[in-house]
Amino acid sequence: MERADAAWVHGRDQDTRQAALASRRVVIIGCGAIGAPVATQLAMAGVGYVLLVDPENLSWANIGRHPLGADSVGFGKALQLAKKLAVSFPHARFDSRTEEFGVILQKEQSLLVDCDLIVCATGVWSVESALNAWHIGGKRPANILYSWTEPHACAGHAVAIKPDDACLQCQFSRLGDAKTILTEWGSVGPKREPACGAVYQPYGPVELAWTTDLASALALDCLLGKILRSRHRIWAGPKTLLEAAGGSWNADWIRNREEREAGGFLEERVWAKDLTCPICT
Ligand SMILES: [Zn+2]
Repeated sequence: MERADAAWVHGRDQDTRQAALASRRVVIIGCGAIGAPVATQLAMAGVGYVLLVDPENLSWANIGRHPLGADSVGFGKALQLAKKLAVSFPHARFDSRTEEFGVILQKEQSLLVDCDLIVCATGVWSVESALNAWHIGGKRPANILYSWTEPHACAGHAVAIKPDDACLQCQFSRLGDAKTILTEWGSVGPKREPACGAVYQPYGPVELAWTTDLASALALDCLLGKILRSRHRIWAGPKTLLEAAGGSWNADWIRNREEREAGGFLEERVWAKDLTCPICT
């Protein structure tokens, strides 16, 4: 007889976080190159319920940096990932929706309210700002985590927003430009996929893993009640990666901060409130 219960699978009965994590509910909005690995890591860490939301199908160009592979190409990312995780972790629950976030917000808002954490990994400002306005406007899941990368995965960001503290908008312009940008690209710019015009940057899963780990670790801290104020974690990639991709550090990021020049480190800071913020002030 071999044990296959959650407490044994996720930490051989030694991980004191397991009872809490098994009772947590997480919604992942955007199951792409960040959302899908974060969902997978949270499932591996023992989170008891994960709802995956993404309207897109998996394409061949996705699979080099996605936990799903060739057998899922042409099928919905959210549906396929929920199926895969359910097979891997039969003691946990996985669900999926193939509607846009806005549709979920209209038709099934309770799914968003009744969870412990929403992870928004779309990188799309219209979705992020709508979610932020909803969060601050009175519907209150305890935590929303936003994560995105800078071009070529040379820097990554994970931000945990608490509903009664600084909101996402506080550190963004009205058009959705982050106030803290680590890298600069001059004329290199992001490359674009010729067929569909989608932004394409030729980084791989290895470079991206720093950002997905950053987001997953912050998600766990949110789920375990360790995040009391809105927080920002930054991954600054190594300068060698940045230069190989044709970028340089943003002058504001390294001004008077010589120790940041080489990159390759994590930084955690307060996500500061903007007293003129149109959403939360
Ligand atoms: Zn704000």
